[in-house]
Amino acid sequence: MRIVIASSEAVPFSKTGGLADVAAALPKALDQSGHDVSLIIPHYPQFDSGRPNRPTTETTSFCLRVAVGNKIVNARVLRAKLSRCRVTVYLVDQSSYFDRQGVYGEDNLDYQDNCERFVFFSRAVLEIIQHFNLKPDVVHSNDWQTGLVPVLVAVEMRRRPGLDQTASVFTIHNMAFQGRFWHWDMHLTGLDWKYFNWRQMESFGYLNLLKSGIAFADMVTTVSPTYAREIQTPEYGCGLHGVLSSRTCDLRGILNGVDTEIWNPSTDPYIAKPYTIDTVELGKAACKAALQKQLGLPVRPDVPLFGSVSRMTGQKGYSLIAQSANVLLDQDAQFIFLGSGESHYEDLLTDLAASHPQQVSTTIGYNEKLSHQVEAGCDVFLMPSEFEPCGLNQMYSLIYGTVPLVRSVGGLADSVVNADDQSIARGVANGFSFPEFRSDVFLEQFCRARSMYADKPTWRKLQQNGMLRDWSWKKSAAEYIQVYEKAISKRQLAAECSRGKSPVELTNRDTNSDCHSTSFADGSLPWKTRLSPRNA
Ligand code: ADP
Repeated sequence: MRIVIASSEAVPFSKTGGLADVAAALPKALDQSGHDVSLIIPHYPQFDSGRPNRPTTETTSFCLRVAVGNKIVNARVLRAKLSRCRVTVYLVDQSSYFDRQGVYGEDNLDYQDNCERFVFFSRAVLEIIQHFNLKPDVVHSNDWQTGLVPVLVAVEMRRRPGLDQTASVFTIHNMAFQGRFWHWDMHLTGLDWKYFNWRQMESFGYLNLLKSGIAFADMVTTVSPTYAREIQTPEYGCGLHGVLSSRTCDLRGILNGVDTEIWNPSTDPYIAKPYTIDTVELGKAACKAALQKQLGLPVRPDVPLFGSVSRMTGQKGYSLIAQSANVLLDQDAQFIFLGSGESHYEDLLTDLAASHPQQVSTTIGYNEKLSHQVEAGCDVFLMPSEFEPCGLNQMYSLIYGTVPLVRSVGGLADSVVNADDQSIARGVANGFSFPEFRSDVFLEQFCRARSMYADKPTWRKLQQNGMLRDWSWKKSAAEYIQVYEKAISKRQLAAECSRGKSPVELTNRDTNSDCHSTSFADGSLPWKTRLSPRNA
């Protein structure tokens, strides 16, 4: 299968969060299963230096020319190979859009021209596909930044010779970020205003690029089965539960995997002593001592060390940590916080480190090496998220024998098995989790983790259960292939129907499904469907 993946970031070229990890690891895993994969990302020069193992890029002779609103924007295209695989990476090099201090904004403020930047990038994806003759069976785009891609595939690309049956898949990594822009930005897309309607690109009066991707893609995925269910409810759907429910038959939740070439305690170049499941006790003890020493905490093997590596935002549960700080610090425990985000959390955690230097170390900023050292050196990883589409750090923790303490939402619920009597007896317990987003419930689990830490045999079992499970991309990549196949078969069916010159009946071929949706081949809705709310 020929697959093109479009993302706004991918390691080792750029990274602000989990999307970058996924956008590199999934293509590699698909390549390993024999598929032909290309990855298209923007080129952010600020990431060019200081990253180890960054593949070299070459400049291609292709000069992009893309219409964005009433401007023509030019760009160079660079090319590289992802390391240790055959995946070709195309980097769109447009300095006025992408050569900036931040990726999406600075000082906690989004760039004002984000709509223009990513409309440009989405159109560039189509031009690269055409120019380099990639002929994809599937174009897989991710999050709002490339939410326009499925629209362009449906409305424009399928008119191009040889690309008429290209299927599209869209993955939601976080419903909280939707790419909502004022309605006049619709003109930047170059699309007909007929698509600016409540079932396609408009939401509460705004242009919404996440919704656009959801509405137009042949198949929609998100990054865990639990999150796929959650986002169809008002509580977690961030205003888009309606459109998601309308696509329930085309929506799949696939838990992310881990790139075990990067996150592997037996080969990790950043940690003090590599270890395996057989040497976890000695290895972690050495990593813990080195981490405590490096961060100026008392080097004490007996004290439980809690760590966190994250964006410091409400989503990640820092309000629970803030509310519980006094009780947490009353315990004989140490804490390491690494991250950046909302200034009130940064300030609070910095103050705690200043007032409790024997117990707390806070590092504000992004530090890849330290993030590996925290995973290897800590005993417990804190991730009490308010919501969590998938979460990667709890899986890194499980691989490193660091027991996660999480709220059971989204991907955390799909990866962490709470250590209660039954799960321990069944040999599946690997962490601690709690359902309600309340500080008293969080503290209860914190205390359970602390006391279970003293019970070494049970603790070893938790570590082993986490380390034994296969967290690699193999299984998830196979599930993506199934989704791609489904998208392709929907496209073939739509093409057959469109030859009958009527609105395309996109009927789900599953016999046990009554899923049914209707659109014209160019992605527009039949006139009556557009005007009648009853058809929502
Ligand atoms: P997000 O919602 O931010 O995408 P994920 O858990 O899915 O959360 O992924 C976050 C990724 O970013 C992980 O690889 C994590 O290790 C990394 N990360 C987050 N903050 C930092 C930081 N301050 N320093 C280093 N890595 C970080």
